Amino acid sequence: MNHLFSEIRANMPDTGKVFLETQDGRQISYGDVLALSARYANALTDIGVSPGDRVAVQVEKTPEALMLYLATVRAGGIFLPLNTAYTPAEIDYFVTDAEPAVLVCDPAKADALAATAQKVGASLQTLDAAGEGSLRTLADGASSQFEDVAREDTDLAAILYTSGTTGRSKGAMLSHENLASNARTLVKYWQFTGDDVLLHALPIFHTHGLFVATNTLLFAGGSMLFLPKFDLDAVLKLLPKATSMMGVPTFYIRLLGSNAFTRDLVSHMRLFISGSAPLSAEVHKEFSERTGLAILERYGMTETNMNTSNPYDGERRAGTVGFPLPGVGLRIADPTTGRELPQGEVGVIEVKGPNVFQGYWRMPEKTAEEFRTDGYFVTGDMGRIDERGYVSIVGRSKDLIISGGFNVYPAEVEALLDEIPGVAESAVIGVPHPDFGEGVVAVVAARPGADLDAGGITVALSDKLARFKQPKEVHIVEALPRNTMGKIQKNALRETYKGDFG
Ligand code: AMP
Repeated sequence: MNHLFSEIRANMPDTGKVFLETQDGRQISYGDVLALSARYANALTDIGVSPGDRVAVQVEKTPEALMLYLATVRAGGIFLPLNTAYTPAEIDYFVTDAEPAVLVCDPAKADALAATAQKVGASLQTLDAAGEGSLRTLADGASSQFEDVAREDTDLAAILYTSGTTGRSKGAMLSHENLASNARTLVKYWQFTGDDVLLHALPIFHTHGLFVATNTLLFAGGSMLFLPKFDLDAVLKLLPKATSMMGVPTFYIRLLGSNAFTRDLVSHMRLFISGSAPLSAEVHKEFSERTGLAILERYGMTETNMNTSNPYDGERRAGTVGFPLPGVGLRIADPTTGRELPQGEVGVIEVKGPNVFQGYWRMPEKTAEEFRTDGYFVTGDMGRIDERGYVSIVGRSKDLIISGGFNVYPAEVEALLDEIPGVAESAVIGVPHPDFGEGVVAVVAARPGADLDAGGITVALSDKLARFKQPKEVHIVEALPRNTMGKIQKNALRETYKGDFG
């Protein structure tokens, strides 16, 4: 029997130690973490949250929102964070599906969500960007003592809806041990200690900012500098006070775009970690040249927590996501037959371990479809393992392009595009083609001031790639469409360029 919060408690340093500091200098100590999460746990219990109930939360990133996460876990509830960008109509879908006991939202959205909450019998509470609202009032009036509700390893601690770029968004059910086992592993693998000060600029409605960053830090008993979002100036100002940072590739691209981001500024930093989207080898290289530090890239997903990581000591190979983490089984399989493929071949990445989720909320068939009979989860990411054991990702299986019967892995073409001088980043997609089924299309963003032209790009690739892999169309754009986690929205690109060969 293991409770996520018991383990956080067991790893807790002095209660006087600072856990979190906000941009305006507000400090929350570990003692405050205990007291505030207890107050919120009491508030939740008072408004009817029982063990196993969902607590759906769409609020801005504040220390109070983090306390609400911990409170839900302590009360035996299931934390269900929702992207702040979702509209009330989207929230209605999630709430109808999850039937939470409580829905916490920004006061500005309370009217629009009242009917949704009422439909499922949820108590509607508010919390704003300053951490004020009806739930705060209830918590302020509640006791700072709370006895954690006992939980088993497989009891759920959270449900996170996947971004749902294809079909309906699915609720990934994560247990106490799914989260705890991953945090335990990451503390060791990345050598986090109580001396760490993590610069936290990620959203907390997603696995990266909520679990990878926050749980790891809590398990290490470290501190964090807590920014409401990634703001270049604020990050540059705070880096001298930090020892480590976790980010999406866009963070690193933005830092490299600033002249103020220098070797001196970060020479004291222990670790920069990147994930949630592919970090191009070019950015990895440019970062090393500028700072003398190699970004550590890792790979995970909502359903599995973290699966692989480049090593802490040892070579961090650009363009790879490193080795399977201790305790994680990883294999490359034929997507259709599920047969394991020999080392070096490209196939779908499958994983198994204590990190892998309990299934999709109320979708037993969908869950069954995505697990092999021996318990391996089919991630949907295509990848390969090199001769030294490093895993690399060549794209989502749904992004695989089949042109004239041949497979084209977007990552291979993107890596070559990114090497062309003047290219900031690129995305390669397949769109309907009358002869080939799909035609390869490249969308390229230029660096500021660079003078790129489609013809030049086509020529630059011509002797580097087999003809069937060469883009038949090249579009130069100002920026690629990305979501809040820095993932390029290939769906949107496919829609924009669907008529290229039509
Ligand atoms: P999410 O569930 O939103 O965290 O998205 C998970 C997906 O992000 C994975 O299935 C991968 O497709 C992608 N992803 C995460 N980390 C990486 C990485 N380091 N390189 C490439 N893709 C990644």
